[in-house]
Amino acid sequence: MRYGYIGLGHLGGHLAASLLRAGFPLTVHDLDRKLAERHLKLGAAWAASPRTVAEASDAVITCLPSPAVSEAVLCGKDGILAGLAKGGTWIEMSTLGRDDVLRLAASAAERGVATLECPVTGGVHRAAAGEITVLAGGDEALFERHRPALDAMGGELFHMGPLGSAAVIKVITNMLAFIHLVAAGEALMLAKRGGLDLGQAFHAIKASSGNSFVHETESQLVLSGSYDIGFTMDLAVKDLGFAMGFGREFGVPLDLAGLTYQTFIRGREAYGGGAWSTAVVRLLEDALQTDLRAPGFPSTLEP
Ligand code: NAD
Repeated sequence: MRYGYIGLGHLGGHLAASLLRAGFPLTVHDLDRKLAERHLKLGAAWAASPRTVAEASDAVITCLPSPAVSEAVLCGKDGILAGLAKGGTWIEMSTLGRDDVLRLAASAAERGVATLECPVTGGVHRAAAGEITVLAGGDEALFERHRPALDAMGGELFHMGPLGSAAVIKVITNMLAFIHLVAAGEALMLAKRGGLDLGQAFHAIKASSGNSFVHETESQLVLSGSYDIGFTMDLAVKDLGFAMGFGREFGVPLDLAGLTYQTFIRGREAYGGGAWSTAVVRLLEDALQTDLRAPGFPSTLEP
């Protein structure tokens, strides 16, 4: 199976590298050609457009920043659908809304191309280690056909159901993570203002019933002051917007997610859309003019 990979950013760059390390023939493309250098060294071929990636591939994977970009890369004049043969597969690993997935999959189906949505969760450090969790939606036989490639990129794989179901669970997991992050920031600030040693507080929380995956990972980046989680404010605001949309659509009041959404909008305004999402905790640090630094914590998470 020949794969193509489009979108070699913070996340996609690692996922494409995992495919190469597992021996899959891979053609890559990104707006920024420099990002492909590591993949070319690992044996990938470069293609100058999504169409030419698709012409060289049986299945094309995308990992792009927004639904609008995914649509342009899939359906544009020089897009994937202009180059992929009938019977090919488009695998979407970006985080999209459910409606986006269904709409774009319908465009692909009109050209005889099947769609598998495979958003991922766990952070770039897990992607770098080939251990990120993969949430798949779409035809089960299609999922099984691509399982070897998904196994190469990910750790645990979950087939969630038909197309659109992975978009829903992905947004739910991110909604939880963002709420946990804001809560972890408040917890650390209470510890600091309460006069505790922040390092000890981190470890005590980690061993407590108040622990979370986000505390174990992102709190370390707050304490080091790097905030470098490899995931931006723009992406966080996008994903919380999807969550709020699901809340309206499914009739579920999302009180905590709503508050968190506003906090992230404030964070994006304060520090910019390209700032790391973990820096949302800085809003509290700045408001109280109290930093949350502690010695001995890493500036990035180990793969
Ligand atoms: P990113 O901005 O680092 O990467 C996106 C890449 O797409 C960039 O390299 C950019 O140059 C490229 N690109 C943009 N427009 C393009 C176009 N028209 N043609 C070709 N390439 C184009 O973003 P990311 O952090 O890698 O996230 C990508 C997707 O994965 C997003 O949907 C995000 O929500 C999702 N995601 C990210 C993470 C994470 O931890 N970073 C985790 C889970 C899901």
